[in-house]
Amino acid sequence: DYPDIATPLRTQAIMNQYGINTKKSLGQNFLTDMNILHQIVAAGEVSSTDNVIEIGPGIGALTEQLARAAKQVLAFEIDGRLIEVLDDTLAPYDNVTVVNKDILKVDLNEALAQYFSDQMAPLKLVANLPYYITTPILMQVLESGIDFASIVVMMQKEVADRLSAQPGTKAYGALSLAVQYRMQAHVAFTVSRTSFIPNPNVDSAIVVLTPREPLTTLPRDEKKLFELFKIGFAMRRKTLWNNLITAFGKNAVVTNKLMDALEMVQIDPKIRAEKLTLEQFIELHNALMTVGI
Ligand code: SAM
Repeated sequence: DYPDIATPLRTQAIMNQYGINTKKSLGQNFLTDMNILHQIVAAGEVSSTDNVIEIGPGIGALTEQLARAAKQVLAFEIDGRLIEVLDDTLAPYDNVTVVNKDILKVDLNEALAQYFSDQMAPLKLVANLPYYITTPILMQVLESGIDFASIVVMMQKEVADRLSAQPGTKAYGALSLAVQYRMQAHVAFTVSRTSFIPNPNVDSAIVVLTPREPLTTLPRDEKKLFELFKIGFAMRRKTLWNNLITAFGKNAVVTNKLMDALEMVQIDPKIRAEKLTLEQFIELHNALMTVGI
């Protein structure tokens, strides 16, 4: 049994030993609360049969707990300074691979095929995300089409609320739709600022995503559906119609097709996207495909 990396004392000692001063620009806030770490692993129900992806291992606080619980762990860290630290702190665990890459530049499907030895094992994503890119990371993960058994992610509380937001609310947007298309989201618990070194200046929450019930209407093209989510909310204050013609063009041919599609699914062009349910987005997407947009 090895001592935990994430106690405040050991974290500070590791940072001193390697001369690591955390970079705000990379969202570096290291967890130093063992209770929270155990709760994160428990929320993901991570077990010895699971493959786990981690984004942003830092000095290995969460990685270590995942390595102890999971079959294999694959972690992506952008900061080259932390790679030598992780080499040492995670040396006791032979089931961890750390890749020195910007997660936004990783092809996740390729990485899974390359690094996991058991391709049939359930796959989970567990991470204390770099907050400055929470939304792009989640969009990338959801757009990858990978079938995650669960996703447990720590983020800024304000962003956490968006994941389960319902139509007609301020928090509802493209991210809510992308999440809810695949998963069911719930905020499991909040985390105090004092649980990190250094303390972040925002409140944090752990969100648990699990696969949702099958949809009643399926989209004809998932990629285009995700694009439509973004198009709908490109300019929040504008009508659905305005956002559609901005994206697809203002000429007569296009506007006629758009009108036809909206008519087919009985959606008023003057409403705002924030009023549309996920099902309506899927129906609109399918209608757009039918009219050839
Ligand atoms: N998992 C550690 C923990 O809980 O203590 C660190 C979490 S810290 C909030 C976020 C981590 O993500 C940092 O280690 C940071 O260097 C890393 N990071 C930031 N941007 C990244 C990117 N584009 N790709 C991969 N890792 C990134």
